[in-house]
Amino acid sequence: MTIAQPRHLLDGSHRRMFIGGAWVEAASGQTMETRNPATGAVIATVPRAGKKDIERAVAAARNAFDGPWSRFKPHERQKLLLKIADLFERHWEEICVSDTTDMGLPIARARGNANRVLGMLRYYAGMATALHGQTVENSLSGDIVSYTRKEPVGVVGAIIPWNAPTAASVWKIGPALATGCTVVLKPSEEAPLTPLLIAELMAEAGVPDGVVNIVTGTGAEAGAPLAEHMGVDKIVFTGSTATGQSIVRASAGNLKRVSLELGGKSPVIVCTDADLERAVPVAAMSVFANSGQICIAGSRLFVARSIHDEFVARLAAYAGALRIGNGIDPETEIGPLISPRQLQRVEGYLRAGSEEGARLVAGGTRLSDGALAAGNFVAPTVFAGVSDTMRIAREEIFGPVISALPFDTLDEVVRRANDTPYGLAAGVFTRDLATAHQLSRRLQAGSVWVNTYHAIDPAVPFGGYKMSGYGREGGAEHLDEYLNTKGVFIRID
Ligand code: NAD
Repeated sequence: MTIAQPRHLLDGSHRRMFIGGAWVEAASGQTMETRNPATGAVIATVPRAGKKDIERAVAAARNAFDGPWSRFKPHERQKLLLKIADLFERHWEEICVSDTTDMGLPIARARGNANRVLGMLRYYAGMATALHGQTVENSLSGDIVSYTRKEPVGVVGAIIPWNAPTAASVWKIGPALATGCTVVLKPSEEAPLTPLLIAELMAEAGVPDGVVNIVTGTGAEAGAPLAEHMGVDKIVFTGSTATGQSIVRASAGNLKRVSLELGGKSPVIVCTDADLERAVPVAAMSVFANSGQICIAGSRLFVARSIHDEFVARLAAYAGALRIGNGIDPETEIGPLISPRQLQRVEGYLRAGSEEGARLVAGGTRLSDGALAAGNFVAPTVFAGVSDTMRIAREEIFGPVISALPFDTLDEVVRRANDTPYGLAAGVFTRDLATAHQLSRRLQAGSVWVNTYHAIDPAVPFGGYKMSGYGREGGAEHLDEYLNTKGVFIRID
């Protein structure tokens, strides 16, 4: 296995993709550009893979799964994951620069994700030697010993969005390595560079050829053939709910297993007794972080009526003071949106909010002064006077837009918070223990955060209810997504 390309040529030069331990071009020879969303500049070209490349990557993953990788013992997989974690730690700054340049995440936030991402790799390393079946007392016969075995599902197809390339790649590849699966990962066409860097680090750590393959391409040309492929045993997908539905349909051919982390329209509930010093910045950044391009964005902000006006005023002041710019500046708090297309989409919601009668209290426009003109920047935006039926209160915007909605009683706010097709996350701000427990129980969401937000932990399962998807990432449940359970019966009389 070779490390064929110097790291971080973010200067428009060409990078290859990684299949079977080799750096290769697309079979068609086609390429595509990736741009810095803060400046609009082309930072690299990458292969534009198609069906033939997916065939090749799945074959490489199958060979590795049936071959050398199957002989790796759990303790060897553990050692490998620990080595990968060390390499990530050593190259963390490069990883952050790559994410910031390719998808706009402010570098200060990228750096701040170190504990979580390194923690994930080390958590999976720990789990590699903790996978086990059970001895099950046979319920029908004393002459039969029965037990279960946990076995890797096989070749895993992983498809990820642009908004968190590092964490999403690790969340897909880490459990595969821990359980003994192999992976074909297709990054988003909007942000393919960090996954390619991650492939370099995997190679350097000694991951055998074909165990991890990174295939760059579009959703239609590379993602769809991967989701349909009869040689893929499981698809793990993070992205929009509409694409998730097409993945489920595509999986029907061989009934491959599927897990889905999809969109959200998460409620944040601020009760009368909340600590506002804490609640204002946390509620604001629950949406504004990563310019709102976060699946768990707490974009429906329910505020108790008695504190609503004060809360909204403080939120607007907070939004107005955020430093916006190119994320490579360590002072930047809010970076650009990923693409001109996403900018147009978000601007459409800004217009819709005003047209439907919401009151704009902060932001509301594209920012195009000076250097910002070249990028896809939107001011952190707060709408008040929003009603539950407005589009900005119902649809996932994936931009820095908060809708504030007053409420009167807890029963009422629970009903309104749950009145959405999504169920990814929820936030609660209260100092009352009973309210905290009651709301945590009654909110239909895969994660509920009380007096905090965004607290994702490698050891705690994360995932959706309802149309936010199924399956869990993080925690022991995550490993089970990559394992089959076999029952074994041995007659001993
Ligand atoms: P998207 O669904 O457009 O694309 C996601 C990935 O799927 C990309 O790699 C894309 O190329 C690929 N793809 C597109 N069409 C495909 C098809 N027909 N078959 C196979 N693959 C296909 O999503 P996006 O716009 O990149 O990301 C934003 C969405 O992701 C938001 O809805 C957001 O909420 C969601 N998201 C969810 C989580 C989570 O953990 N729940 C995390 C991040 C993002």
